[in-house]
Amino acid sequence: MRRWLCGGLLWLLPVLAMAQAVPVQQPGAGGRDLIGHLTYLDDTGANLTLEQVQAADRAGRFASPPPAKGALSFGFTRSAIWLRVLLHNPGAEPSAQMLEVPNALISQVALFAPDARGAYHATYTGGDLPFATRPYPNRQLVFPLEVPAQSEQVLYLRVQSTIGLLVPVELWNSNDFVEHTRDDYAVQAVYFGMAAAMVLFNLMLFIALRDRIYLLYVSFVLCSAFVLARKGGLAGEFLWPDTLVWSNTSYYGGASLALIAFLMFTRRMLYTATLLPRVDRVLVVLALLHLVAVVGYGVKIETVSRYALVLFLVTAVVSMSVGFWGVYKKMRSAYFYMGAFAMLLLGGVTTVARTMGWLPSNTLTVDGLQLGSSLEMLLLAFALADRFNQMRRDKLKAQGELMTTQQQLLDSVQASERTLALRVEERTQQLQALNDKLEALSMVDGLTGIANRRQFDQVLQKEWTRMQRLGQPLALVMVDVDWFKQYNDQYGHQAGDECLRAIAQAILGISRASDLVARYGGEEFVMIAPATDRADALRMAQRACDAVQALALPHTYAEMGVVTLSCGVATVVPQQQHTPEALLRSADEALYQAKAAGRNQAVLAPAEPGGPDDSPESP
Ligand code: GH3
Ligand code: MG
Ligand code: MG
Repeated sequence: MRRWLCGGLLWLLPVLAMAQAVPVQQPGAGGRDLIGHLTYLDDTGANLTLEQVQAADRAGRFASPPPAKGALSFGFTRSAIWLRVLLHNPGAEPSAQMLEVPNALISQVALFAPDARGAYHATYTGGDLPFATRPYPNRQLVFPLEVPAQSEQVLYLRVQSTIGLLVPVELWNSNDFVEHTRDDYAVQAVYFGMAAAMVLFNLMLFIALRDRIYLLYVSFVLCSAFVLARKGGLAGEFLWPDTLVWSNTSYYGGASLALIAFLMFTRRMLYTATLLPRVDRVLVVLALLHLVAVVGYGVKIETVSRYALVLFLVTAVVSMSVGFWGVYKKMRSAYFYMGAFAMLLLGGVTTVARTMGWLPSNTLTVDGLQLGSSLEMLLLAFALADRFNQMRRDKLKAQGELMTTQQQLLDSVQASERTLALRVEERTQQLQALNDKLEALSMVDGLTGIANRRQFDQVLQKEWTRMQRLGQPLALVMVDVDWFKQYNDQYGHQAGDECLRAIAQAILGISRASDLVARYGGEEFVMIAPATDRADALRMAQRACDAVQALALPHTYAEMGVVTLSCGVATVVPQQQHTPEALLRSADEALYQAKAAGRNQAVLAPAEPGGPDDSPESP
């Protein structure tokens, strides 16, 4: 009776559930996606017992989910979801199978499977339960099964989560699964080994270079790796196998912290603070929102996680836009940045494509996200290296420019110094010429154009010492115009000046080149004749008198009726005890005598032994 009933039920079940029996996996067949073979029941109160569910099963309340591949998605539901699958072992031997739920984030998963006598037993595990509850030690949620020979088994899975509920279910042959696990863990080891190397290396770079961007990179990689470890079930297996509750909190928290680091990294990498100040503020605000979200996860993960997904999406779109902007602006860093982004995206697309069955399941596609993430961190590290290089190049360029500017400055300073030197030289010459002119002017008598008193004094001094050295006589002739006061009175001062000019030229005319004719003052002239003895000096004075008389300048008051001169002549061989003043006095006295003797004549001062006039008289 009972057997009949069972048999009848077995015959009925597929019809009721509207799902076909899934044959057990043969060795070498790999993992099989059971999604298409599942029916489900939404236990909204999350309070149904297995018996109630089985009754519901008979009542046909189990439904086929909408067609999907890879995983059933129930969104942010607070319901418990019951999944039902019918396994069939047509073989003559019992078959060891593994039912895998490869999503370690599902808070609670329970498997209800019948034993040999048809009695159901439950196995409770899940992401929020200690690792020790796992019926099989694996990073994912795995249930070993023994399907008896030539039998069919109805399995019930009860799943419930505090966050979004995404349920993949796969069936493996036990042998295959063990092999698959080895490969799987090897790939995980490669990824996390790489992340660890990146973290350590960039931490050292930060210590060496003191650029905070390395620290941001390290934080980003650390958080990303943590999120993947949490998502992949490795955190639950190795980091805190006994912790119960905060698995999903830490998953979302890690993601938000990773994005905070990423946003800060983006700001530094693309220099948004200086180049895009407004967008930079948006990035900061996003980072702050993530920070708020981190606190929110701790308070109420069920609610906050819904809004966090929007925040994640906005963050991705904004970061990507900034990256595109950088590429548009031809920023080198932006190329790497977008490349890294593309890698992560590629990882995501690969995962989706595999889930959809567009790509075959293999090591590359199954761990697409890990692969994308590792390529991303590699490219970002490369971007950092390039950034360092770029900064070094910029620095060298700036130094070069500075050097050039300095050189130009130096050149221009030198050039202006040269110009200045030339100017000074020019001015000095002009000044010299001016001085010479002034000097000359100061030596010349303004009225007559012959030497003035000043020049006379200098020449007398010079010739005095020269003659003293040579032991030669120096002659001096004092000249005074006769009756000149009367001349002025009679002919006018103007005519007097004209007369003085004519006399000066006349005296100059009879003098030698080596002599000096000077205006001594008023209508008095003086002649210096070096190396000239008494007789020659007297003759010279006489010639001057003659020359002026020969000018025949009418002067009615004078004895001769013309302008005449009187001259006093004195000579001396200069010696220590003599002075030029004495010679002058002597010539003056002789002039006085010439006046007294009737004018228009030259008188020679008497020679006094040892006096100024002791040069021998020549015949
Ligand atoms: P003496 O024969 O005794 O020398 O009679 P003198 O009239 O020449 O007497 P004195 O030498 O005392 O007179 C000088 C006169 O020469 C006075 C002044 O009128 C005139 N004199 C002096 N300097 C100048 C001058 O620069 N220009 C003119 N036109 N006359 C001058
Ligand atoms: Mg006079
Ligand atoms: Mg006179």
